[in-house]
Amino acid sequence: RRISIAIDGPAGAGKSTIARIIADKLNIEYIDTGAMYRAVTLKFLRKGIDLDNDYDKISNILSYTDINFEKGKIYLDDEDVSEEIRLPEIGKYVSRVAAMPEVREKLVKLQREIALKKSVIMDGRDIGTNVLMNADVKIFLIASAEERARRRYTELHEKGIEVSFDEIYKEIENRDYIDSTRKINPLRKAEDAITIDSSNKTINEVVEDILLIIRN
Ligand code: C5P
Repeated sequence: RRISIAIDGPAGAGKSTIARIIADKLNIEYIDTGAMYRAVTLKFLRKGIDLDNDYDKISNILSYTDINFEKGKIYLDDEDVSEEIRLPEIGKYVSRVAAMPEVREKLVKLQREIALKKSVIMDGRDIGTNVLMNADVKIFLIASAEERARRRYTELHEKGIEVSFDEIYKEIENRDYIDSTRKINPLRKAEDAITIDSSNKTINEVVEDILLIIRN
């Protein structure tokens, strides 16, 4: 039987780290939907799109945009962009791109198609409330803003990307604000989701919590 697990929550709560580990343990596919919004953002930025005015160009570009996952990498029109989409520049614009109806329509459709073909653990903002409303398990993963910024900071610095803690904190706050106040499918806990606060938990503890929920 195919299973689907939804993990939603604000930026930096640990969704992708945890989803990846669980996917490995259960031998199912991990789908990082945030990476898809980031890839579209990268394409718009490369094309020099004015996010406020180029509506016509946006739908046109989307019509020839191809996004694929393969062995943990994300491909934008057959180019591996897994590294590039993590740059702070993308983080700055992604929430505005993700608030565009045309963008969401295209990516949500793709996400549902993927989940129809195989068992998945999918993380994002609207997976439990919209993309996979009938998911077998729904988790809402949260952590304090302070802790989330600290984790992002460590993560980026390990990759050699130099950004200040302050900058990251502001970016996270700004994204959470846009993500939870946008009109279509805002960041929200699904009624039937289970909330886990990872602020004072290790990665392993959160993984164990979720595995227990899945097994029950
Ligand atoms: O998960 P990540 O932080 O990389 O996501 C980047 C951005 O993509 C989010 O801040 C949000 O604006 C958007 N997003 C979304 N819906 C999803 C996943 C991500 O709107 N399901």
